[in-house]
Amino acid sequence: MKLVLIGAPGSGKGTQAEKLSRHFGARAVSLGDILREEVKNKTDLGRKVEQYMFKGVLVPDEVVKEVIEKKLPAEDFILDGFPRNIQQVEMLESILEKKGVYLDRVIYLKVSREVIIERLSGRRVCKNCGALYHIKTMPPKKEGICDRCGGELIIRKDDSAETIKKRWQVFIENSLPMVDYYRNKGLLLEINSEEDKDKVFKDIVNSFKKR
Ligand code: AMP
Repeated sequence: MKLVLIGAPGSGKGTQAEKLSRHFGARAVSLGDILREEVKNKTDLGRKVEQYMFKGVLVPDEVVKEVIEKKLPAEDFILDGFPRNIQQVEMLESILEKKGVYLDRVIYLKVSREVIIERLSGRRVCKNCGALYHIKTMPPKKEGICDRCGGELIIRKDDSAETIKKRWQVFIENSLPMVDYYRNKGLLLEINSEEDKDKVFKDIVNSFKKR
C-alpha cells in the first residue's frame, strides 16, 4: 500500500497516518516530524529549515528533495505532509518512476478553516514521544503530562494564532491545487475529516473496500 495524505494543518494527517500505518502494515513518514527532529537536534539541516517552520511557510523544495530521497521507504508507505505543492508532486513522481512503483491512493482530509483554528489552538504535543492531544477533545489523563510516556506536553511553536492563519493560507495557495491534480488522475479519495478520528478512519478503510 502506497498512500499520500493531503490536508490542511490540523486536518488529522498525523493521527490517520499512524492508524493507517498499523492497519495496512505500511510505514508512516511525516516530513514535518523529520524536520522538527532535525531542528531539535540543531543539525545543519535543522538550522536551515527552522525559520521557515516557525513562520509557518514551506521550506524550499531543494531541501525537501534531499530529505525525501533519503527517507522514502523502499517498501509500503503512508506519506504525511509530502507532497505539499505541485513541484513536489512532480518530485515524488520522478522518484517513484525510478523505483518502478506507483501510488495506490491519495487521501484528502477535508476540514473547514474554523475547525482547523479550533483544533490547532487546543493542540498539545508530547515533547518526548510526539504523541498528540487536544485540551478539549483528547485531553491527557493528567494535565500537561503524556499518557504514553510521561513526557511534558507542549504547544508547538507554529500553533500560535498568527501562524495557524498563515499555515492555512499556505495550504490554500500551495497544496489545494494538488487535490484537482490527483482527482483528474483518478487517485483521489475525499474524506470529511471534521468527524471524530475513529469515524474518519472507518470512512477511509470502508472506501477502500468499495473500490
Ligand atoms: P507539519 O507538521 O506537516 O504541519 O509541518 C510543519 C512545517 O514543516 C510546515 O509548516 C513547513 O514549514 C515544514 N514542512 C513540512 N512538510 C513540508 C513539505 N513537504 N514542504 C515544505 N515544507 C514542509
